[in-house]
Amino acid sequence: MSVRPNGSQPRTPLTVALFGPPGSGKGTQATFLVEHLHIGRVSTGELFRHEVRRGTGLGLQAKQYIEHGELVPDAITLAMFRERLKKPDCADGVLLDGFPRTAAQAEALNGILQGLGRRMDRVIYIRVPQEVLISRLSGRLTCPTCGATYHPELAPPRRRGVCDRDGSELFQRDDDAPETALRRINVYKEQTVSVLDYYREQGLAAEVDGLGPVEEVHRRALASLSESVVG
Ligand code: AMP
Repeated sequence: MSVRPNGSQPRTPLTVALFGPPGSGKGTQATFLVEHLHIGRVSTGELFRHEVRRGTGLGLQAKQYIEHGELVPDAITLAMFRERLKKPDCADGVLLDGFPRTAAQAEALNGILQGLGRRMDRVIYIRVPQEVLISRLSGRLTCPTCGATYHPELAPPRRRGVCDRDGSELFQRDDDAPETALRRINVYKEQTVSVLDYYREQGLAAEVDGLGPVEEVHRRALASLSESVVG
């Protein structure tokens, strides 16, 4: 399957958003989908972490919210997102991982996409029960380079502490600590679930069961991008 199969008309670049609470496997599915669909990936969480690591002004601003499990204010997030979307890897389509997360972000995104002659094509919601989220997040290991995630027991890397994909040294996110993780799950319920409902009302949301082997969830996520979306 490709975004533009042979013989079909060129279409506007694909825009797909991944929704799901922290620990639902968004990052893992995002990595798979962008490789499969040959589109760019924009993870606002990854962008913020990158800025925090570099110690930029934006990173310093974002850090205080991230470490408490709160959302970074919309104005800051949107300014960063707008710049990111201009990058060449987003020209042929984009997978949004962790954005939009508030009603204001969804509204702004509509305007941004409209300005580019694009629209939201599909929102994939990865559904996972809360008790599973907590166990997945505690001890989770993240790759600083590609964002892939592992777990010492549930999904161990081939070599301990090292990313299978690019050999980077894995780290534990501070905001995966139990108290902050719980706050992030609650923030998701308070501020992001209503954004998902907004896309549901437009018939754009597809629900995917996030439990089971990762390859199986990949298959479900791909299937949720119906023929009408990916051609
Ligand atoms: P994530 O990697 O998606 O779990 O995001 C990690 C943290 O980055 C979140 O808990 C927020 O503090 C911040 N963040 C990421 N994306 C957004 C967003 N769209 N709006 C506001 N804050 C965000």
